[in-house]
Amino acid sequence: MPDFRLYNTLARREESFAPQDGHTVRMYTCGPTVYNPAHLGNFRTFLFEDLLRRTIKLAGWNVYQVMNITDVDDKIIRRAHEAGTTIGQITQPITDTFQRDREYLRIEPAEVYPKATEHIGDMIALVQRLMEKELAYQAEDESVYFAIARFPAYGRLSRLDTRVLRPGARVAADDYNKEDVRDFALWKAAKPEDERAHAAWDSPWGRGRPGWHLECSAMAKRYLGDTLDIHAGGVDLIFPHHEDEIAQSEGANGVPLSRFWCHGEFLLTDGEKMAKRVGNVMDVAHLREAGIGAAALRHFMFSVRYRQQLNLTEDALEASQRAVRRVGELAERLTTAEAGTEALANAADDLERDAKAALFDDLNAPQAMAALFEFIRRANAELDQGGSNLAALERARSAFALINGVLDIVPDQPAVDAALRSWVEAQLAEREQARARRDFATADAIRKLLEVRGISIEDGPRGTRWKKVR
Ligand SMILES: [Zn+2]
Repeated sequence: MPDFRLYNTLARREESFAPQDGHTVRMYTCGPTVYNPAHLGNFRTFLFEDLLRRTIKLAGWNVYQVMNITDVDDKIIRRAHEAGTTIGQITQPITDTFQRDREYLRIEPAEVYPKATEHIGDMIALVQRLMEKELAYQAEDESVYFAIARFPAYGRLSRLDTRVLRPGARVAADDYNKEDVRDFALWKAAKPEDERAHAAWDSPWGRGRPGWHLECSAMAKRYLGDTLDIHAGGVDLIFPHHEDEIAQSEGANGVPLSRFWCHGEFLLTDGEKMAKRVGNVMDVAHLREAGIGAAALRHFMFSVRYRQQLNLTEDALEASQRAVRRVGELAERLTTAEAGTEALANAADDLERDAKAALFDDLNAPQAMAALFEFIRRANAELDQGGSNLAALERARSAFALINGVLDIVPDQPAVDAALRSWVEAQLAEREQARARRDFATADAIRKLLEVRGISIEDGPRGTRWKKVR
């Protein structure tokens, strides 16, 4: 197995990673809150996790990934209340949209997508355990809170300055029920609007609903056991969400919740954090409308390492569209070529070595892409030479497929409809006739006409081939 280095937020440094059982990486990734379609900032995190799971497989391990669907929370209930409906009516279509968008971006599916509302029993059991251990208490408002003062390890992940959170420092209006202002809700007592939205369940503490942090602790335990190999999410989740997950899980189970904590940085638009409130939202629907495919977006997202902020600009997206066109062209050349050269096989060996080294070095995708583009340059030069080495060509195909299998940046073929196809073929037939009577001016004019329509043609020994390039 390779030396796989991952930055562990818990240790604040890169560490050597391998799954605990030597075979399967058990990974929990915090999923979407399904009240609005996820924006590209969310998808930067999900793409980083896709890169992580594909790199783990490249290293020779299996992955068992869980991504929760948060289908009960304040925003969803507010939405349901405004629409005079139930939370399920709000969350189901958004969950479907999320899965469609995920597929559009070629993000591999997690093994399980558990929904919070289907695991209320697991959450109640976890709260009961915390009550038994006297780490939780029911307050006068009938909600159940986690008692941070009784869990001394609180704050280890985020290393936040505890003085900022000293008891009584800043008491919000709804905080007077808590023993300590830092305490967070495990179980929220039901209000009438929760009942109306079908967002309330029976519990030993009365009707209520789970706090957001609780679902991840309960579902991680249900599907992955008490200690995970990797827990991942966006940097904005470090505090309080992941800190609170640690408090709940470790308080109840008495063992570390996760060996590695991995966090992806923000996507910015012109220097600003991409969040719904700043009004610069771009989602997958926008991408589709703009004709930007998965390959270009993935290229853009992987052009900067996951732990650095990335700025979304139109120029950058256009540059990525041009870059992936070259990847697609080489993919096609490798498919249609008949043989290669010795040097092509050498270039393939270099690609595999360099891209793996980059990816296993804390997912250095930009460097892996640089290795791929260097391979494209060399492979094109070698394919121009022709060559007669069949094994060399096979070697090039398999190295390309292996590394592109992680990055996944070959663009979709632009769709060609039947009407366009018959028009192109009629033009080509006419051009053939013009060339036969040595009327090169007409033949050239037809080629230019085709180019205007986004069709490129190539004359070869086996006739003229054409493709739609945009
Ligand atoms: Zn979570």
